[in-house]
Amino acid sequence: MQLHKTEDGKILCTLILGDGIGPEVVNSTRKIIEATGAPIAWDEQLAGAAIFEKGIPSGVTQETIESVKKTHLVLKGPLMTPVGFGEKSANVTLRKLFETYGNIRPARELPGVKTPYSGRKIDLVVVRENVEDLYAGIEYMQSPGVAECLKLISRKGCEKIVRLGFELARAENRKVVTCATKANIMKLTEGLLKKTFEEIAPEYPDIESWHIIIDNCAHQLVKLPEQFGVIIATNMNGDIISDESSALVGGLGFAPSANLGNDVAIFEAVHGSAPKYTGKNVINPTALLLSGVMMLRFINMFEEAATIEKALLYTLEEGKTLPRDVVGDAKAASTTEYTDAIIANFGKEPKNWEIRDYKPIKMPQVDSRPDFVRPKSRQVVGADVYVETAVTVDDLGKGVEKLLDGTPMKLKMIDSRGTKVYPATGAITDTVDAYKVRIMMRDSGKEMSDDIFVPVLQKLGSEYRWGHIEKLQAFDGVDGFTKAQGED
Ligand code: NAP
Repeated sequence: MQLHKTEDGKILCTLILGDGIGPEVVNSTRKIIEATGAPIAWDEQLAGAAIFEKGIPSGVTQETIESVKKTHLVLKGPLMTPVGFGEKSANVTLRKLFETYGNIRPARELPGVKTPYSGRKIDLVVVRENVEDLYAGIEYMQSPGVAECLKLISRKGCEKIVRLGFELARAENRKVVTCATKANIMKLTEGLLKKTFEEIAPEYPDIESWHIIIDNCAHQLVKLPEQFGVIIATNMNGDIISDESSALVGGLGFAPSANLGNDVAIFEAVHGSAPKYTGKNVINPTALLLSGVMMLRFINMFEEAATIEKALLYTLEEGKTLPRDVVGDAKAASTTEYTDAIIANFGKEPKNWEIRDYKPIKMPQVDSRPDFVRPKSRQVVGADVYVETAVTVDDLGKGVEKLLDGTPMKLKMIDSRGTKVYPATGAITDTVDAYKVRIMMRDSGKEMSDDIFVPVLQKLGSEYRWGHIEKLQAFDGVDGFTKAQGED
């Protein structure tokens, strides 16, 4: 990553104040970082509410994009996401535009922050894939009453996140990496992360690695969180377990994060803009401050990072000046008092905290070619045609069979929301008006060419309203599609 240096040798960082409590947490963090003398210059830019109000639906201005392209480094406050106006989240836009594929969310027990887990020495980090999965938000209505969301997972994306997880473990001297997936149910998507993890783990023999089903991971996080070091997960699962992990060590006021990519790194708190506290000088700036500490380490300013971390932890441990989410409204220090106390405590060390032996993280370099996986052979064996109809399943099945009579294709089965309903299984399955009609070549050794498929689709379309098609392919002789529940 090519960081931008100013003429006087400082590293330039794009600074986004953000919405709601954003300016308060950003200004607190900026003040503390500047007090260390860290050679950083700020390029203040806008994103979020003010930009949505100007009618820019991405919530991010071109100037902000240009600044990030130049600095490659961002410290940002939370940005509010308008609900229901068709706008996208400006946060997700920034992460995706700059392919910050790895979201790093540490959760470590903090002295002075009492939780039901105090004393258990929780110290883990969730490495969440940040640009793929259901969070891509690719959604369709299959019929007026049936919605669909596409879960896209790539081998390239999996390889980046798995390598990042192991590299982070090495940089932070962590001994165990766990991959948490739902591969038992989503064998191709979640399964791709598990398979990639199992292929790459042997390259890191110094680190213990194991796989866990994501729901058990959520359970184990509550039961025995100290067993985890690094947890790697897809976007949605990682989002949920990282919020869960942060709750174990004190909640959103203490949860930092980094969005890392090969070209850009964005540091932000996990929390949002908490609008009810805007301008009240009462919120806890620790989450963004810890994100700032992660940023300093990322740009190799280890000494400045340690100065802040020690002073922050000393302040928490000492317990004289604490924010309201730790001690309640009556005894709380204001955001600015807490900020000043941390600066005043520079040079002091907490008794119950050990600074980890950090090394610079080696960002993984994976093959940049789009066709990351190249099979030796491939065959199109059929197609799933998604049909919207209110006729009975039996009428639909018989109708499709009649239409395919005399063509090179046959009906394999029909499913409703992933469960086979035709030919009848004898089970009792409720149906909706969106069906998947699976048609295959009668001669399984023959390729389904467009010349064969298009006339068949036209025949189906003459009777039934079809919405979309998914080609059924086999790569190197292995089916690239799953069976429906009940399909043989
Ligand atoms: P939120 O802003 O995170 O606030 C939820 C609650 O968390 C607050 O009411 C407060 O709890 C606590 N909290 C959050 N930040 C805190 C801090 N610094 N110190 C102490 N307590 C803190 O979540 P939200 O209300 O669901 O979302 C508000 C807006 O933020 C939405 O527009 C959302 O889209 C956006 N958002 C942005 C980001 C981001 O920029 N990365 C992330 C999440 C949400 P108490 O009420 O118990 O005091």
